Amino acid sequence: MELHKIKLTRWIVMAMLAGAVVGLTLSQFVEFAIDSGTGRVKLDAQNRPILEQGFVADYIINGFFQFLSEAFIRSLKALVIPLVFVSLICGTAAMDNVRKLGTIGLKTLALYLFTTAVAITIAIIVALIVRPGEGVQVTDTNDFVPGETKPLLQVFIDIFPENVVFAFVNGEMLQIIVAALSFGIALVVSGDHGRRILDIFKDLNEVIMKLVIIVMLMAPFGVFAKISQVFAKEGFDTIFALGKYFILVIVVLLIHGLLVYPTMLKVLTGLSPLQFFKKMRNVQLFAFSTASSNATIPVTMRTVEERLGASKKVASFTVPLGATINMDGTAIMQGVATVFIAQLSGIDLSIAQYLTVILAATMASVGTAGVPSAGLVMLTMVLGLVGLPPDKIGLIIGIDRLLDMVRTAVNVTGDSAITCIIANSEDALDKNVYDRSHKT
Ligand code: ASP
Repeated sequence: MELHKIKLTRWIVMAMLAGAVVGLTLSQFVEFAIDSGTGRVKLDAQNRPILEQGFVADYIINGFFQFLSEAFIRSLKALVIPLVFVSLICGTAAMDNVRKLGTIGLKTLALYLFTTAVAITIAIIVALIVRPGEGVQVTDTNDFVPGETKPLLQVFIDIFPENVVFAFVNGEMLQIIVAALSFGIALVVSGDHGRRILDIFKDLNEVIMKLVIIVMLMAPFGVFAKISQVFAKEGFDTIFALGKYFILVIVVLLIHGLLVYPTMLKVLTGLSPLQFFKKMRNVQLFAFSTASSNATIPVTMRTVEERLGASKKVASFTVPLGATINMDGTAIMQGVATVFIAQLSGIDLSIAQYLTVILAATMASVGTAGVPSAGLVMLTMVLGLVGLPPDKIGLIIGIDRLLDMVRTAVNVTGDSAITCIIANSEDALDKNVYDRSHKT
């Protein structure tokens, strides 16, 4: 069977549309569970609304669809760590000069932090002009339980693995990156011993890449089920109440995704942004449906290497790093949310406080995993720093899932655009592959 001949993108798009229709229809048959004491919607451990028991909720939405979507997302996630580890070892060992690693690392880090700071700055400026929180009458119907955030020092200490097995078990991406880089360097300097082991890793890498394609074939089913669940559970009434906030986040995400990245790509590399977006469709669809940059890594890695022509030595480092520390879409939501909550609470923040928000959100994106809702946890810390009430996040949880999906698509677009920019600057981007058209 020729796996690459299947028109996957088309199937995924159809699955999404079908999922939206089925989900909206099912939403008519379910109710949210209300806490009799407080009169608020009950939330699960991930701060997602819980549905009232019933046939549709128990057997379809939380039953069959839960099975399909979890089977798909788990299979994708299962590939992430082996793929990152093996391909980063191959990528590091392919460096002709190990010192280059430092330059690539610094350039990547600088660009990731820069784009995140730009993203949140645009978000704050636009939100201050549009004033989404003014005149909004909403009561928080959800009990938000703020998650734990790590102190910044610990974030930096945690880059170094104490125990490699723990790093793998806990999915500590930065630690896995450090372990793979060191192992790759050690292979290069170990002569024949290293070369023999490297050959095995190269073969392993090919096999894992094939596994990625196989798992991607599950996507139409998984995406259909996930989108159905989201649409069945999403409180659309809340979207109307918070319409201005919702639309504003989407608009700034679009500005960033459709203006900032293409401009950077054109100015810094001369590459065609249109071609970039054509090839990125699958990555964005996967990110949108899974709401996780992390789970999307296998698809991102495959696309930037095989379709956009970035070499493994760059992509195997920049993609997992980006999925972990580069979250421009998330920063945008945080910028708009901060202004929104400040206005709702009738608090005027000073310029210095907004600068704190920009700095804090940019730093907070380092070390926070690219998983669903991670942005809300980071928002707790950002709000706390400027003295805004973190429990007000309860207001925006109801509509956060949809926003999470869109911002994750922006997050992975940023990771891929920067990968192309860095690869190009290192002469490690094959322009023939970039310009070639691919069937998807
Ligand atoms: N879901 C986002 C991601 O994985 C993070 C967030 O904004 O919650 O990139």
